[in-house]
Amino acid sequence: MNGPEWLTHFRSRQDALAADLEAMVNHESPSRDREALAKLCVWVSQRLSQLGATVEIYPGGTGGDHVLGRFGGRSAGPPALVLGHYDTVWPLGTLESMPFQVAEGRACGPGVHDMKAGLALILAVMAAFREFGHAPARPVWVLITSDEEIGSPGSRPVIESLASQCAMALVLEPALAGGGLKTARKGVGRFRLEITGRAAHAGVEPGAGRSAVVELARQIVALGEIEDRSSGTTLNVGVVAGGTTTNVIPAHAWAEIDARVATTSELERVTRAFDALRPVTSDVAIAVSGGFNRPPMERTPAIAALFEQARILGREIGLELAEGATGGGSDGNFTAALGVPTLDGLGALGGGAHATDEHVVLSSLPERAALLALLIEGLKCP
Ligand SMILES: [Zn+2]
Repeated sequence: MNGPEWLTHFRSRQDALAADLEAMVNHESPSRDREALAKLCVWVSQRLSQLGATVEIYPGGTGGDHVLGRFGGRSAGPPALVLGHYDTVWPLGTLESMPFQVAEGRACGPGVHDMKAGLALILAVMAAFREFGHAPARPVWVLITSDEEIGSPGSRPVIESLASQCAMALVLEPALAGGGLKTARKGVGRFRLEITGRAAHAGVEPGAGRSAVVELARQIVALGEIEDRSSGTTLNVGVVAGGTTTNVIPAHAWAEIDARVATTSELERVTRAFDALRPVTSDVAIAVSGGFNRPPMERTPAIAALFEQARILGREIGLELAEGATGGGSDGNFTAALGVPTLDGLGALGGGAHATDEHVVLSSLPERAALLALLIEGLKCP
């Protein structure tokens, strides 16, 4: 099969792709709803096994389970890991206000772009190999997890242990605007700062109190020193709270901070800087918790080489693929940090991920499916 043949095939399957997408969007799957997740997990596992995969389920504890479908290859070399997640950020019942709909060449609905369209692409590609009666060039392990949107606490060890046995990781997260692939992602951290001061009557004995709110304000200013935008390091103090009422000197205050870094050395520096925070006010205690839950995906020479191959393969179907970096994390951060060459953003074109205008461009589905098939067939281990 050459590129144009793949493309013709998937264009003839565009309706089937859209039908799979609709079925998955209509199975709502918020990350923390085990019961809802279980239904989609069954749907996905059945599809993979109908397509000839050997399916294994990794129990997800209080969350959803993770599904691995193993497909054999024409050669026995190390597999390609094809990675997706079936959870979404949308709570159960979102379909009532945001139903699956197709209009003007776009499909809308909760999770349609992030990333049920990516899952539909994976299923279409594996179905095509089956239909044409030949195995992919190398074994393909399709891993579909249930907790990416909450930082992958349960699936991370599964992803890492499988990825470390694979030649490469292909991640079906949404494409960059315009269709570019993601070859770098920031590492993501979440920190919490707890301040304990001493309460006192604000009028009767103001000197006896130690204001946790004032200390927090000073700490927030100090956090600005940790930020280093020229290195790609940003901090966002996203939530603050403290105090009880106006005539009490507040004994308690806290803040939650999102941290993003582009490199491992910045991750280490920021972690050390949080550890080194000390109270400015006497008799006040501060406690720091949290940390980085995703390492940065750095654009290594192996990732650059893999992208260059993808760019050349994309030309076979008329795509001029671009690449780019994003501040958002994904499970590609884990595979890349292990040194497994990773291409991310292989999913559909569209927009509005995590927003009410979430949509995919339906005509992009056949070309993205053809691209994934070409990559599985044509990528050499860099
Ligand atoms: Zn996603």
